[in-house]
Amino acid sequence: MDHLPLLIDLHLPAHRQGPGGEDETRRAIELAGLTGRSGLRIADVGCGTGASTLVLAQMLDAHITAVDFLPEFLTALNSRATQAGLAERITTHEASMEALPFGPDSLDVIWSEGAVYNMGFEAGVQAWRPFLKQGGVLAVSELTWLTHTRPAELNAHWEAAYPEVATASAKLSVLERNGYTPVGYFTLPEHCWLDGYYRPLQQRFATFLASHQHSDAAQAVVEDERHEIDLYERYRQFVSYGFYIARKNPGSA
Ligand code: SAH
Repeated sequence: MDHLPLLIDLHLPAHRQGPGGEDETRRAIELAGLTGRSGLRIADVGCGTGASTLVLAQMLDAHITAVDFLPEFLTALNSRATQAGLAERITTHEASMEALPFGPDSLDVIWSEGAVYNMGFEAGVQAWRPFLKQGGVLAVSELTWLTHTRPAELNAHWEAAYPEVATASAKLSVLERNGYTPVGYFTLPEHCWLDGYYRPLQQRFATFLASHQHSDAAQAVVEDERHEIDLYERYRQFVSYGFYIARKNPGSA
């Protein structure tokens, strides 16, 4: 958190703040059965500068409330929405994902790409469920092991950074035991990490370091990112994001 202003500076100019892609957002929209429906009320939680928000607004007859706790990202999202002619379908809202500003049973869809880990996958799907209408859709992407076992170096890194990292079957169980029926799952392909996220990030390192006079803190931020990129490049067959689509069950669970 000490590095938050630096992280904002590094990630604000990006198209997206985590692995993902327009085609993958569209694929999840189709799996969720949302195309052709009208008047949808959608929340995009941890929206960043709005990569997924814009795809949702473009593809669907919907109003999207885009929530993030960083106002800088929301300002960028608003200008992108205006440029794309989508502003009237999108409202930004500065809030924590742990205290979402919605009424009970008020949303058709909760969307969240690469963000729920900030409160933890299980805590997130539990806390967000009451806001969904019965039969409403949850669509979240989440760090996922692709294989039953994996190299110790990779395991140690992600177990320390995000102890809830698990296989897809474990994540699907979390959804089932928290009152959801899983309806679709796929993993993000490599280009979502490399072309969609890491390569553009790497290209910003030099400018970022120069604009912070190569301060120790700025160098530490870049070193962390470089380490994560290096691990991904060496171990990409073992880890990705899974995109999980699930429907809220009737009743309390
Ligand atoms: N969904 C976007 C951003 C992913 S990065 C994309 O795919 O590009 C994670 C986002 O979660 C960031 O924008 C960060 O500001 C936001 N975030 C982190 N912790 C949060 C919290 N507690 N409440 C709300 N937003 C949070």
